[in-house]
Order: sequence, then C-alpha cells, then structure tokens
Amino acid sequence: MSELLVVGSVAFDTIHNHLGSHARILGGSAVYASLAACQLAPVRLVGVVGKDFPRGAVDMLRGRGIDTTGLEVANGETFHWEGRYADDLTSRETIQTDLNVFADFEPKIPPAFRDSPFVMLGNIAPQLQLHVLDQIENPTLVIADTMNLWIDTALDALKELLTRVDILVINEEEARQLTGFHHPLAVAEALRALGPETVIVKRGEYGALLFLDEDIFCAPAYPLKAVADPTGAGDSFAGGFLGYLSESGHTDLRQAVVCGSATASFCVQDVGVGALVELTREDVQTRIRDFRELTSF
Ligand code: AMP
Repeated sequence: MSELLVVGSVAFDTIHNHLGSHARILGGSAVYASLAACQLAPVRLVGVVGKDFPRGAVDMLRGRGIDTTGLEVANGETFHWEGRYADDLTSRETIQTDLNVFADFEPKIPPAFRDSPFVMLGNIAPQLQLHVLDQIENPTLVIADTMNLWIDTALDALKELLTRVDILVINEEEARQLTGFHHPLAVAEALRALGPETVIVKRGEYGALLFLDEDIFCAPAYPLKAVADPTGAGDSFAGGFLGYLSESGHTDLRQAVVCGSATASFCVQDVGVGALVELTREDVQTRIRDFRELTSF
C-alpha cells in the first residue's frame, strides 16, 4: 500500500438544496477526497484552515486514519463556499466564495510527505497545484482536478500544470469549456494534447469516461432512488479512484474508475460528508460487485 498525498481546499460549505439550507458544514475538495480514499490507502492531507476550524473536525479526520500533519492553521477564517442547487440537482450556482486564509496560502509539504508516490491535486488555484508539485520528489502518479473558475481566471497556469500531470479529472462541462469541443472523443483528444496521458471526464449522474491511449472505458453512475447532496461527488470519485490505485498491486485504471464511481455514489446519499465519515472498505467492495452485475451483459 502506497501513501497518497491529497492537497486541496478544506472548507465550510453553505449548501441550499431541495432538503433545505445547510450552513457552514464541513467540506472542501481535500476533505472529500481524503475521506473517500482513506479506507483504501494511507492518506496525507495538505491544506489550510483558519483559527475558527473546529478541533472536532480535525479529530474526525485523524480518527479516519488521515495524517493531518500538513493541515496548516493560519490567522484568519477558514475558506467558505456557498452554493445553491436546482431542484433536480443537475446544476448549481456558486453564490459566494470567501477565500479567507486561502488568499495567502502557500502549500508547504512537510518533509516526511515529500516522497509521496501518489499525489492528488484537488481543486485549488493551478498556481498552488504547481507549487505543490515543485516540492514532491519523483512521484509515481499525479492526478489533478480543476474547475471553471481557473479556466476563466488562470488559464496559463492551468496549461502549465497540465504538462506536469499524468491524469486529469475534469467534469464534462468544464472539459468542453477548456477545449472548445463538444463531443467526447474530440474533447479527450484536445485535453490529452495539453499534456496528461490519461483523461477522465466526469459526467455527473451519467458516470465517467476514461481515455487512455486508444482505450476508452465508460462507467455508469450507480443508480439511486434519491440523492441528498451531490457536493463533493467529483472529489470523492477522484479519491476513490486514486485510493484504489494506491493499494498495492492495482494498476488497472478501469477498476479504479469503478471504485471512484462506487465511492461517489455513497457521497451523494447524505448531505456534506455525512456518508463518507462512516464508509467502510466493505461498503465500497460490495458496491463494486453491484457494478459488475449492473454492467455485465
Ligand atoms: P465538487 O462538488 O466535487 O465540485 O466539490 C465541492 C467542494 O469544492 C466544496 O466542498 C467546496 O468547498 C469546494 N470548492 C468550491 N469552490 C472552490 C474553489 N474555488 N477552490 C477550492 N475549492 C472549492
């Protein structure tokens, strides 16, 4: 089993959805990805929080076996994101992003984390993702996520980052925005031309597409009766995906995509990180078996 370094936002989220308003609950790309990966691999978390971040949340992360040595506590308030979902949960608008301590964040990778073989650059400014990569010695596999905000405001840094990552995980709408193409093969070809050997396009309730060389793999999203909150589904997918690869002996990207989809399907069944904090390895394994049944013909 290899160590997995996860860098990203650690946040308070305020979420408005069909179930009501959920104010200042624990979130952030690094939190979702770490909780998704931690039952599969040893996770090393790097991020920043403010003095207002509750001790209980850190204890919960540690209780899940996540190494929080790299969680910096800075003067100021924790990053806060507020979003509102459409009633069918297929789209959301960002109402407010308060960077707070993130505004001056310069990720410092603790010396003991610099040999991490697997690196997940969760959604933060691409300049910060690059700064993290500069501090890692010879990683085996680097995967990065991004979002429309950085395509709009930091395109040059994002393009530089893409020349240095092995796998890009991106949602379909943002992949179309970044490439200017619409259809999956054209989008994937254009993304791979920017650098990453492998591209995973997340398609929300329609699952994910994996592009590696000439190989294309399609995993559905797990069919559910109800979704409580899609926040963090993308980060949970990436955490489950890379967690699977970090386990010794797993090099099969297709299996890893299914593990990502299985993990994300748990995430959306509760609000915030509610389902992930209780997730077990057995839960994920059972759902992977369900996927096999679901897609076999
Ligand atoms: P997802 O639903 O997978 O896109 O991820 C949702 C998480 O992304 C939330 O928990 C937010 O705290 C976090 N997030 C939203 N905007 C940003 C941003 N600009 N930078 C970093 N993290 C963000």
